Amino acid sequence: MKRISHWVDGKVLEGTSGRSGVVWQPATGEQQATVDLASADEVSHAIAVAKAAFPAWRATNLSRRAEVMFRMRELVDANRKEIASLVSSEHGKVLSDALGELARGLENIEFACGIPNLMKGGFSEQASTGVDVYSIKQPLGVVAGITPFNFPAMVPMWMFANALACGNTFILKPSEKDPSASMFIAELLKQAGLPDGCFNVVNGDKEAVDTILGHPDIQAVSFVGSTPIAKYIYETGTRNGKRVQALGGAKNHMLVLPDADLDMAADAVVSAAYGSAGERCMAISVVLAVDSVADALIDKVKDRIPAIQVGPASEEGNEMGPLITGEHRDKVAAYVGGAEAEGATLVVDGRVDAPAGGFFLKPSLIDNAKPGMKVYDDEIFGPVLTVTRVQSYDEGLRLINDNQYGNGTAIFTRDGGVARQFQFDVQVGMVGINVPIPVPVSYYSFGGWKASLFGDQHMYGPEGINFFTRSKVVTSRWPDPRTSSVDLGFPTNR
Ligand code: NAD
Repeated sequence: MKRISHWVDGKVLEGTSGRSGVVWQPATGEQQATVDLASADEVSHAIAVAKAAFPAWRATNLSRRAEVMFRMRELVDANRKEIASLVSSEHGKVLSDALGELARGLENIEFACGIPNLMKGGFSEQASTGVDVYSIKQPLGVVAGITPFNFPAMVPMWMFANALACGNTFILKPSEKDPSASMFIAELLKQAGLPDGCFNVVNGDKEAVDTILGHPDIQAVSFVGSTPIAKYIYETGTRNGKRVQALGGAKNHMLVLPDADLDMAADAVVSAAYGSAGERCMAISVVLAVDSVADALIDKVKDRIPAIQVGPASEEGNEMGPLITGEHRDKVAAYVGGAEAEGATLVVDGRVDAPAGGFFLKPSLIDNAKPGMKVYDDEIFGPVLTVTRVQSYDEGLRLINDNQYGNGTAIFTRDGGVARQFQFDVQVGMVGINVPIPVPVSYYSFGGWKASLFGDQHMYGPEGINFFTRSKVVTSRWPDPRTSSVDLGFPTNR
């Protein structure tokens, strides 16, 4: 049985805690590996290694740090297939989807190649007579990333690229469900010339996370995962004096107005609801259909579902893989099974004829879902799309704004004025106008509102640079000895 250990100080470090987790092959339902779960001592050791590596790395000049990112960009590009197949095998998503994840992750490494420009401060000459004032951005020290199972390559790249380029050293605690991509990335960073100790991977569960949150040498924690854990990470980390950004779950609504191109809207919602088996934080899980077009839209979605090829990533042509574990598959199936008892209408039941062997479900479509029903209120995180019929734009907007989550949303319409009003009114962090999954490009920042993000800095892009640096302002005078005198008054700039 394959064993996945830790990566500390530039090499694989076997765990000694005696605890391990199971890594499944979701497409077959069989165990494919064990993963070592780090003890508090092992995590503390990794943090000590990262702390020792920090002074030299932060002193490494910007061009050299950029060079490491440029080399890493080439290495990830050259190893796309290898990383994608690791992701497919442990997560279950089909290869094209894993390659898409990688492409979006790579954007963040490309962004970090511009670090000499991104780390620029400001300068004000002659703020007072003979006095200049300037600001500089400096790294924080040892920072940590804690990541979810659903993007095992991309989400770590959201974090470590900017963190390292800014001069920090990094501890990654990936999801214990699919840790191999992180271990492979660690090897590539070494090949890219990153000094040993700057990037470390500790595999583990709550014990590893709690050690990170409580350790005095961790300066900042970047987290992506479910809302209850995000809230816990934010509260615990900030209580311990750390800077924290914690991105949580989602329930993304797509509002379809009567003037929308219904075929385009149906294509978009089917792709956004069922891609990656719905295990995306930006998946569309609710369609708000204005009543006059609801029946037509539902028919179009229903017509498209049978064409979706569900099966293992290893078989050519499959478009949707299994769910991450048997337990999660059963939980998602229970939502589908309970929908009618809650008063909703089960239009397509994805439990029927799902491929045998792995953790498969086919796409489900549920009509007449309403607030107060579990299928509407909960983040299901599976291939389940619910439809809520609304009478108007205003009612749709109200439902979106009343929802506890505020990660992503989309409006489908041909009316530019209404779309602009939606962008103005909607209380959601990422908005698509005729775009169902509006994940921002890497030179903007990613993050939701409300229960989808705890903290005040979004992930990656310019806000990522802010998150991983702190600023210092220097007021400087190189006096002319002839102007020197004693003055006990408070410094003013007059
Ligand atoms: P999760 O919250 O179960 O796990 C995330 C991380 O937290 C993992 O590394 C895990 O080991 C750790 N963890 C789990 N339980 C913990 C506990 N009790 N104490 C401390 N640490 C703990 O999330 P997941 O199931 O891996 O991922 C799916 C979730 O992530 C969904 O809710 C999805 O919406 C969310 N997500 C959000 C975004 C976003 O950008 N907002 C992106 C991707 C995924």
